[in-house]
Amino acid sequence: MNFFSADKKYLHAQYEQLQRQKLALNFKFDSIDFDKQTGKADKLRVSLERCTCREFWQRHKPCKHMYRLAFELELFNLDAEKIDAALKITPRHNLYGCELSISSPPPKNFVAIDFENANRSNDSICQVGLVVVKNNRVTEKKSFLIRPPYKKFTATEIHGIKFDDVKNKPNFKSAWSKLIKYFHEQTIAAYSLPHDLKYLFATLDRYKLPRPKFTAFDVQKNAHDYLKKISALEDNKRLPLSAIAEKFGLTHNAHDALSDALVTAQIQIHLSKNFPKENTTIYYSTAAAVAEGFVKDEIPWEIVIDYCKRLYEEDKTLLDYVRFLRKINQAESKRGIFGEKSDRLERTLKKITSSANRK
Ligand SMILES: [Zn+2]
Repeated sequence: MNFFSADKKYLHAQYEQLQRQKLALNFKFDSIDFDKQTGKADKLRVSLERCTCREFWQRHKPCKHMYRLAFELELFNLDAEKIDAALKITPRHNLYGCELSISSPPPKNFVAIDFENANRSNDSICQVGLVVVKNNRVTEKKSFLIRPPYKKFTATEIHGIKFDDVKNKPNFKSAWSKLIKYFHEQTIAAYSLPHDLKYLFATLDRYKLPRPKFTAFDVQKNAHDYLKKISALEDNKRLPLSAIAEKFGLTHNAHDALSDALVTAQIQIHLSKNFPKENTTIYYSTAAAVAEGFVKDEIPWEIVIDYCKRLYEEDKTLLDYVRFLRKINQAESKRGIFGEKSDRLERTLKKITSSANRK
């Protein structure tokens, strides 16, 4: 995928992408091959299509290295003033696959989750930790061992779980009937949410289980925002859960899914109690969840429209658009409160899709 073609302007206008463009201003390559359109720095190998950095591996969107390369090749403009101006007027929302995010006060009711994996495969979940929080109090703690679809356990050193420990446990598909109530229509909290979502969605896909409808937020992001605010952390430094737990004075048995989920819950409870006005970025797991958020007036019109445009841009088919629109219409007929909004959305979608089809 060429991330720097002319039809990708919405991608580069996303808040998190603008932040990466800002970081690219201070990045320097050791060498650039102008013919091959590639760059090298330390252990990094960068092209316009991909980068060997961890971030690209996680997000599959241009990282600061790729922006710098595109800039050096004169394919992309980086202007500090313009980026700052755009950041000021751009809502803080982004996409991980199908999700959309908005800002809201910190939730008091949520389920903190954590997964341990058998190996580097995203669908190799072998333990699930769940901690239910109601009104900022822990009300339930659950741990499930899962038999992953692999005998190869390369992460035993990290969490201590061996294939022998789980060989007689249910696989994820069987366990899901017990797990689903902790996800569907819930608010999920995770430390480094993109990772946990990646594991969850990969595992659901493997067993052909539909994605549950939920909202979610990242406790790592909340904790870091807070620590930066009180100047207890350098900019852009990402700490592991154990380091944050220590800063908050919490006892923690790192890489036990239940202990990880419990500490995640305790950190968030602390933040929610002490900083109830701080913004939390909320993710919506599916188009149906977005539609519901729109109906409930949690998500403003501009963000929904932007979401539709991005869905198209991120190589989703037209069908996804139509499905999304139908979901909104269904939600509308159930609630009957936003006919005009829905008509306006449909007209806009038709415009976007017909202009995209002409290209
Ligand atoms: Zn990179």
